[in-house]
Amino acid sequence: MRLHHFIAGQSREPASGRWIEVFDPANGKAFAEVAQGNAQDVNDAVAAAEAAFPAWSALPNSERAQWLEKLASALEARLDDFAHAESRDGGKPIKLAREVEIPRAVSNLRFFAHAATQFASESHHGQAGLNYTLRQPLGVVATISPWNLPLYLFTWKIAPALAAGNTVVAKPSEITPLTATMLGELAAQIGFPKGVLNIVHGLGPEVGEPLVVHPRVKAVSFTGSTPVGRRIAGLASPLLKKVSLELGGKNPTLVFADSQWREHLDTLVRSAFQNSGQICLCGSRILVERRIYSEFRDTLVERATSLRVGDPIDEDNQLGPLVSQAHFDKVTGALQRARDEGGHVLCGGQALDRPGWFVTPTVIEGLGPECASNRDEIFGPVVTLQPFDSDEEALSLANDGDYGLAASIWTRDLNRAHRLASQLRTGMVWVNTWLQRDLRTPFGGMGASGLGREGGMEAMRFFTDAKNVGLHLG
Ligand code: NAD
Repeated sequence: MRLHHFIAGQSREPASGRWIEVFDPANGKAFAEVAQGNAQDVNDAVAAAEAAFPAWSALPNSERAQWLEKLASALEARLDDFAHAESRDGGKPIKLAREVEIPRAVSNLRFFAHAATQFASESHHGQAGLNYTLRQPLGVVATISPWNLPLYLFTWKIAPALAAGNTVVAKPSEITPLTATMLGELAAQIGFPKGVLNIVHGLGPEVGEPLVVHPRVKAVSFTGSTPVGRRIAGLASPLLKKVSLELGGKNPTLVFADSQWREHLDTLVRSAFQNSGQICLCGSRILVERRIYSEFRDTLVERATSLRVGDPIDEDNQLGPLVSQAHFDKVTGALQRARDEGGHVLCGGQALDRPGWFVTPTVIEGLGPECASNRDEIFGPVVTLQPFDSDEEALSLANDGDYGLAASIWTRDLNRAHRLASQLRTGMVWVNTWLQRDLRTPFGGMGASGLGREGGMEAMRFFTDAKNVGLHLG
């Protein structure tokens, strides 16, 4: 199977004539090839997007909304195919793909379709006149997305960009390019206006960077790792180009003795290990009040050990493999480092004795906040445990580090929950829950976790320029 670019409404071979192998992480074998794009492909896609911009941006919001609705419905009708593709491409458990991630991609398209129709300009009447603000699309915008939630994050970016009237050149991850390609094919099938959505595949330096520095690309919405985010910010800043960066995390989970942690165990385990920890929001540092530390630790280890790891296409398996050989090497390297730092591996930390890139759920204790294992993002099924004695200590441990994406607090004390929520240095805080999302609310991180926010009106603002108009009414 060959996965082509999607440019000007058509499937396109790469200008380089080169292809990149795409692997099934559950068996380590290549099952497809994806176009290895270059600056020529980027130029062609930007030209197509630019040509499509005047007509697309001139459509009433409601008509653009109808197109997004149509794409959402076409995707929904093929939900099972897309879920299987996502599972194969990224090793995602099929249930997660079918019940959460592809439905969320449908919701992204639908939600932003309607967000656009509600996105009215603001106006202010004063004594001297009228003052109003137009929100206008930027032109051609670029989206660059990662492998861990392929279609979910791809649609999370293109939907608000398109709804606001921009045309898009999107670069999916070269590691999981399948569902974005399928979405391009769907767009062509439903007659989506040509050139409005373009997809260029390939490697970051060969496609991502030319997109970021392209003079006719007005903004870049990026989700991925912090080092690449820094690189993109560095390239974009002398060009004064708008960027939104959703980056890595090392999220703390604060478990207090007064919490109903036993009742919440399913959610706590999910927050640690969902998608084998390959979700930027997973809580990878679990801070536990000392009074319950041993009991909590033993229970967590028992639950982690009982998680079923295996072929992601098997409905009964809860965890699949890591996405690639390189990522497997990174995670197993981090496990070795944790041992070298003096960490005690309580469970997991093993590769499965079968083909594919599987690592068993791992719980580590005995490492202080200064250890790399508690500071660097591992992005695998690996959590550390640290005890604390007071709210102040929990807060100081939680805020110790460069990242600031998300945190969860587990307590029955409402005062404590609100106080800590305001003091935690993260863009999102959950109390007695995890990954509760409402698409209207801001999403994003502080510090090394990013710049800017996505979601709801934040996304619509990012993808538009504000123009204020003052009118004398005398
Ligand atoms: P990555 O940074 O390696 O790649 C992300 C995308 O950027 C890919 O499409 C890649 O090809 C492209 N890219 C790579 N180098 C580039 C360059 N020099 N210029 C332009 N583009 C380039 O990240 P990944 O490994 O695909 O994804 C995992 C990371 O993403 C983790 O750090 C995770 O925390 C983060 N993430 C963050 C969020 C969030 O919302 N904050 C969500 C999901 C994932």
